[in-house]
Amino acid sequence: MYIKIHRGTSQIGGNLIDIGTAQTRILFDAGTNLPSLDGKEDKDLIEIEGLTYGKPEFDWVFISHHHNDHCGLVERILPGIPIFSGEETHRILDVISDFTDSPRPGIHFHFKNCQPIQLDDMRVTPIGVDHSAVDAYMFLIQADGKNVLYTGDYRSAEHIPAQIRQLLGGQKLDVLISEGTNIRAEKQSNNTPQNEKQVGQRACQLMMKYSGTVFVLCSSTNEERIRVMHQAAKAVGRTVCEDLFLTVVRTGREENTLRFVAHYTSEEKTPRTYAYFQHHFERQELLGAESLAKHPGKKVIFVRTSMLPFLMNYLACCPDEKNLLLYSMWQGYRETRPIKELLDFCDAYGIDVSYLHCSGHAYRSVIQELIRVLGPEALIPIHCESQDRRQFEELHPNCLMMRDGKRWEV
Ligand SMILES: [Zn+2]
Repeated sequence: MYIKIHRGTSQIGGNLIDIGTAQTRILFDAGTNLPSLDGKEDKDLIEIEGLTYGKPEFDWVFISHHHNDHCGLVERILPGIPIFSGEETHRILDVISDFTDSPRPGIHFHFKNCQPIQLDDMRVTPIGVDHSAVDAYMFLIQADGKNVLYTGDYRSAEHIPAQIRQLLGGQKLDVLISEGTNIRAEKQSNNTPQNEKQVGQRACQLMMKYSGTVFVLCSSTNEERIRVMHQAAKAVGRTVCEDLFLTVVRTGREENTLRFVAHYTSEEKTPRTYAYFQHHFERQELLGAESLAKHPGKKVIFVRTSMLPFLMNYLACCPDEKNLLLYSMWQGYRETRPIKELLDFCDAYGIDVSYLHCSGHAYRSVIQELIRVLGPEALIPIHCESQDRRQFEELHPNCLMMRDGKRWEV
């Protein structure tokens, strides 16, 4: 069995991991580069022969989760190469493409947690993991008598070693390809919440402190975070409000939620979004900014950067309240223009801003423990900043510093 990482050995995101045998070739994750914070160079122009151009040379593609840095390249994969993902990942990607009016990703097959898939002489087993995306997986890859575990992105992994041991049935793990977003020890700060439970506790305190509306800025697909905010709101007697996009992404999971529409949608110009709008509108579920503002009781409203006109209308109906924005995503995004505009907006309207977030990636101690318990023969760092790769060497005596595009025989 060979491993060839086309991209991802020395950067966070853009994962493209080619693992195969003399007979079979599988790509794990087809990610695009993370967008630059200044908004420039958004197009990922990477070309891989047999994947994005030429004759198809990959037999299968497996997507670990729906974050773009793991699946953004899917639309450029040559037709004729079948793509696997989790079912919920596929659904979410379809919804996002409908709302952004882009082509739906051509995903062909769904895998199931811990159910091995035999593809010629290779066997792939997806193992569900905790990450800031629902339906995220690690992959155990077995062929030629070798066993490789690719972690994808993960935050905690308590149940993983027992599952791996069971799947290996007494065999050893040859290679662990481990993500290292937070491998640097100092990335774990004691001042910020370490898990979703702590985020929820702090959210409760803040929601109680404010008399007006609490707006929450977080990823619409960070299901766990959204659930935690729902629980916090319930605990302090606030009503949660979700817009049409969030409603569709979450398939209206929670009851006792007010639904609203923040963007204009038309049957002619945006027919795919309009279909969702019509579905909920007919059920009389969707409020406008004014009726939402006038709805009695305290609220928690999930917002996105594209909602400034909606927020203006909403705030015009309740001008004297003391409101809060919970900024519940990575601090680095503050450098991007849309976030800056939202924060400037908050400033102009006198909305306080509180940072409340925990990372969706494992901290060093968690990575270290996974390596220790699994005891792989070799360790390959991936998905970490290039200056942090050396940090992995302290965690394993046989740490392979692979370079993008170099093939290695397991
Ligand atoms: Zn991710």
